[in-house]
Amino acid sequence: YEAQAASVHGEDGKDLGVVVILNDVTDMRNIDKMKSSFVAMASHELRTPLTAIKGFSSTLLEGLDADLYTKEDQREFLGIVVSECDRLRRLIDDLLNTSRIESGESLQPNYSRFPLLPLLEKSVAVQQQASSKHRVLLQVHNALPETIVGDEDKLDQILTNLLNNAIKYSPNGGDVTVHAKNEGESTLIGVEDQGMGIPKEHLQRVFEKFHRVNNDDNRKIYGTGLGLFLVHHLVTQVHMGEIWAESEVGKGSTFWVRIPNELDIEKAKQANE
Ligand code: ADP
Repeated sequence: YEAQAASVHGEDGKDLGVVVILNDVTDMRNIDKMKSSFVAMASHELRTPLTAIKGFSSTLLEGLDADLYTKEDQREFLGIVVSECDRLRRLIDDLLNTSRIESGESLQPNYSRFPLLPLLEKSVAVQQQASSKHRVLLQVHNALPETIVGDEDKLDQILTNLLNNAIKYSPNGGDVTVHAKNEGESTLIGVEDQGMGIPKEHLQRVFEKFHRVNNDDNRKIYGTGLGLFLVHHLVTQVHMGEIWAESEVGKGSTFWVRIPNELDIEKAKQANE
């Protein structure tokens, strides 16, 4: 509590007493704490890719005249530079999109009709390439709608984010399975991992901005706590769908997303103005 006090005098100047105002500043302190740990996290997230980009490009530059590196080496180094640039761009996009949502701006959805299965297959293939420690599988439970209506890029972002998390929070490897099931009016997509899991009391809070589970398991796993906040917005706001998580600590987690097959574009546009 923060206290303010003032003595009160009557008209004749006599002391009548003291007024004390107590302000509960717990929330403000928590926000301050969250902000400073966010700044520490974001600085780390920005520095790590930059260090790699600087390191590998300097090495290439030094090797240029002396022909120090083979073509394969050079290809590998440049590959790292490109993927670290992508990582930086994703982080900056996350920050920009969060501040857009905060200020009530729209994320400017771009709705169209597109085929669903190729998108699922592509996301799974991209993630499989990124990790040799995990098997990334697609399980289609029944005939999916040929096409759905939505924002294809943003659905891609949703899947990429959930798959990245599934891999990141399963440091010991295991299977990551994308489930897809046509429910008639909607499609249910699940991203299941065999990783560290999420304690019950955090299951809903992980969708809050900056919220991260802080325990021995994931202290060394870096992130900003913005990914699921954005995914939640993209599912519920941009696609008028639902998202929730199920998990058992030590066994794994599944993030479920339900989106309508035939999104009403006019309604969705109004909701996202
Ligand atoms: P970040 O990964 O940058 O911390 P997210 O918003 O993507 O941010 O996730 C918020 C938190 O939810 C993470 O810090 C982590 O504690 C938890 N989390 C998300 N996905 C998983 C998962 N698949 N398994 C275990 N924990 C997860």
